[in-house]
Amino acid sequence: MGVIPILNFFRKIIQSALQETECPATRKVKIYARPEHSISRSQISDNALKVLYRLQKEGFEAYLVGGCVRDLLLGREPKDFDVVTNADPEQVRKVFRNCRIIGRRFRLAHVHFGKEVIEVATFRGAAETQNDKQVLNKEGRLLRDNVYGTIEEDVWRRDFTVNALYYNIKDFSVIDYVNGMDDHNSGTLRLIGDPETRFREDPVRMLRAVRFAAKLGFKIHPDCESAMHSAAELLSSIPSARLYDEVLKLFLFGYALQTFEMLRHYGLFQVLFPDTEKSLAAEENGFPRLLLIKALANSDNRIADGKSVTAYFLFAAFLWEPVSMLANEKMAQGQADFIAYQDAANEVISRQIKYTALPRHISLAMREVWSLQPKFNARIGSKPSRLLTHPRFRAGYDFLLLRAETGGADPELAQWWHTYQNADETEQRKMTQPSRKSSGSKSGRKRSYRKRSTANNSAAGTEA
Ligand code: ATP
Ligand code: MG
Repeated sequence: MGVIPILNFFRKIIQSALQETECPATRKVKIYARPEHSISRSQISDNALKVLYRLQKEGFEAYLVGGCVRDLLLGREPKDFDVVTNADPEQVRKVFRNCRIIGRRFRLAHVHFGKEVIEVATFRGAAETQNDKQVLNKEGRLLRDNVYGTIEEDVWRRDFTVNALYYNIKDFSVIDYVNGMDDHNSGTLRLIGDPETRFREDPVRMLRAVRFAAKLGFKIHPDCESAMHSAAELLSSIPSARLYDEVLKLFLFGYALQTFEMLRHYGLFQVLFPDTEKSLAAEENGFPRLLLIKALANSDNRIADGKSVTAYFLFAAFLWEPVSMLANEKMAQGQADFIAYQDAANEVISRQIKYTALPRHISLAMREVWSLQPKFNARIGSKPSRLLTHPRFRAGYDFLLLRAETGGADPELAQWWHTYQNADETEQRKMTQPSRKSSGSKSGRKRSYRKRSTANNSAAGTEA
């Protein structure tokens, strides 16, 4: 055996010993008493308080943990309240009548109060690879993890230090094993333990890092950042149903634009939307980037105004360019426009569902939005009034506006539809008379609004 392998051997032993001493369970716990932190019971939902007090009364430990503690410290309203306890799910069920046990991999109790559900988890046990209850696959991904444990073990299972603070109902203190409070104060997202190992165990943590960074304005710790660059590809091993759920959380909560930019920066977007990434790489005159940016910004603005947003509209925007590009190819091979678009939509959607499992009602709605686009070109006769009654008219029109605002469709066409839908019946009839100059096809006119390709408009031409 040469000198270098021997040195490497000793280095590994020293590294693993160091890692063990890094384990938060062995670190000194910091306890922030009530006057030392900003969480007040008035910020906590009454139902969460009821659950905490009830568990405590029955002799169990009970804490708030995770995102709710993080958000309460920031003075934000938490999305939900997660409780953790040393009672096992069966014991929790005995305490609450309105309780259901869910989950096969790791059993959890859901305590129902009308619409509000308080999730009560039992402390998770420490990681022991040999233990048959914790199973890793060959890439190091955690497949099964269903051992109960203590709070000192539970903390090690959590992702970021700022997500691993425990609010103790017993004395209203915050318990911190991982310097989470310091990271919280400096706005840092730091994985507990070795970043590469933790991303390998569950690559979805990379998406969570981006989501929290965008939502909270925290910065991702440089060690986590570099691990993310090298681990991005691992995300492709995650089941598409879970990735779909995560994508919804990434894009439907008001920080979509920044999230999009960050996902691209870390090489994660290409794993989620490979066709879109390819179309972005072929960017020309701002297409299709402008359309995506505008769609995401609109969606964030709607949320800021308290309005609803739909997943299908954003997915339709993400995949519009791949569909258009593929349809162009098909038309160049002699396929009729309308069929080319339909086939392209089918192909692009069936590829996308391998990465993010779009439910059928979402993909159907996307197809409807796309198929309405050519129909907006028909401005003569009865077609416009029929189109107004289409159940997806509003979304289709919003999509047309989006295209027009970003140079992908004629702004005059969008304006015409704006006027038409707001006009009274007599005016509408006038607008759709064949004699009117403005209502005809624009086939003769030079279109300067989209230099790269006129395919979308030529598809529209067949409908007009
Ligand atoms: P949100 O505001 O989105 O609810 P959150 O941090 O509460 O953020 P949840 O998905 O509700 O996110 O998870 C609750 C807690 O469970 C987290 O704060 C974290 O401690 C732990 N957790 C969730 N997902 C993971 C994961 N993939 N790996 C490790 N710990 C996780
Ligand atoms: Mg939560």
